[in-house]
Amino acid sequence: MQIEAAETLETTVYDRKHPYSAAVLDNHLLTGSGSEKETRHIELALGNSGITCLPGDSAGILPANPCTAVEEVLRRLSFTGDEPVKDFYGELTDLRAALTSWLVIGKLSGTTVRSWASLTSSPELAELLRPGNKDKLDAYLWGREFLDLVEHCPAKIEDPQQLFRLLPRLAPRLYSIASSQALHPDSVQLTVRVVRYESYGRTRLGVCSGQLGERAPAGCVLPIFIHSNKFFRLPDSPDVPVIMVGPGTGVAPFRAYLEHKQAGLGRWPMWLFFGDQRSAQDFLYRDEFEAWLANGTLNRLDTAFSRDQAFKIYVQDRIREQSAELWRWLNQGAYFYVCGDSQRMAPDVEKAFLDAVATHSGRGPDYAQEFLATMKKQKRYLRDVY
Ligand SMILES: Cc1cc2nc3c(=O)[nH]c(=O)nc-3n(C[C@H](O)[C@H](O)[C@H](O)COP(=O)(O)OP(=O)(O)OC[C@H]3O[C@@H](n4cnc5c(N)ncnc54)[C@H](O)[C@@H]3O)c2cc1C
Repeated sequence: MQIEAAETLETTVYDRKHPYSAAVLDNHLLTGSGSEKETRHIELALGNSGITCLPGDSAGILPANPCTAVEEVLRRLSFTGDEPVKDFYGELTDLRAALTSWLVIGKLSGTTVRSWASLTSSPELAELLRPGNKDKLDAYLWGREFLDLVEHCPAKIEDPQQLFRLLPRLAPRLYSIASSQALHPDSVQLTVRVVRYESYGRTRLGVCSGQLGERAPAGCVLPIFIHSNKFFRLPDSPDVPVIMVGPGTGVAPFRAYLEHKQAGLGRWPMWLFFGDQRSAQDFLYRDEFEAWLANGTLNRLDTAFSRDQAFKIYVQDRIREQSAELWRWLNQGAYFYVCGDSQRMAPDVEKAFLDAVATHSGRGPDYAQEFLATMKKQKRYLRDVY
């Protein structure tokens, strides 16, 4: 009797080592025809897993390499795929499964080239690996996959287990959760941009976004876990204003914030800056944001579509245009959130923010730096960028 009770109480904890098998409920294109981007809305069922999450969290997906690429690697290396190997946890599996779920056969790494070079007598690889040739090596790696290396410099691998030393471990990919469990208790929704490009005469796909774009229709199952991020939460106080800067897929967590407010969990005044290339094709969740604006869930919406006019306009330009109002919100204690591109957008937004503070405080750039540092310390300037 006691044992039964203990078993009933036991809850399963899902993590990257023990992922939950989530069924895909929906997978549809958000971007319109003619868009240069392919951004998808994906809904994953949580069933009766008991998984909980909050706006600001991400879902981790353990991706699988495409079987065409796996078979091609096996063929090139003269393996059948049935060879037994041990995975990173020491569990027995076969080489086909290992190349599908455990090892990076996409994007080529310097470490792989270095290890591979020791198996071949290729003078070209030796040259790339010479001290001082990092730029040449980086140029070689850019746009190439493991298969390109195997084709370019064939080598013989005797022991399939050796591939676990040659190839990096396939890591899970994180995607901001775009829905609130207050409205959708049994699922998580994601906003995924499919990475797709041409290099060396082939179309390449990002491992995980490519899988979600091409091989994850409704009904299939994906191994997932929740990656909690307590540093990207809505303010505890339900009245504090919230400024959200989320161009492209960066808008995902803010859709979750808005759903949370719609569910009645706070009154936060909300201001969203959204941007992308063209309003006609790339205005993700347009109807929802406009409806939220109309019913007062969203208090302000500023959009920046870079290709809708002769000159480029980005979210940071809208922040500059609205800097007086931004300063007013900041003085009311607003939290400032940034999500999306870490390379260019986030630093440009920070510059626009600093300029706004420097100008409207009337106290110049040094004060703006201090102001930003204080906001960061108070956890009121928050970023989730990638
Ligand atoms: C906290 C967090 C939240 C995130 N949220 C989201 C989200 O909501 N939505 C979303 O879409 N993504 C999100 N991401 C990014 C996501 O996790 C993946 O990094 C992204 O989908 C790419 O993974 P992939 O496996 O598809 O591509 P990978 O197989 O990892 O390939 C991407 C790599 O391909 C290479 N590459 C790309 N373009 C080219 C080119 N033209 N030429 C040569 N090489 C190229 C680059 O090296 C690039 O790093 C988030 C990341 C983090 C850390």
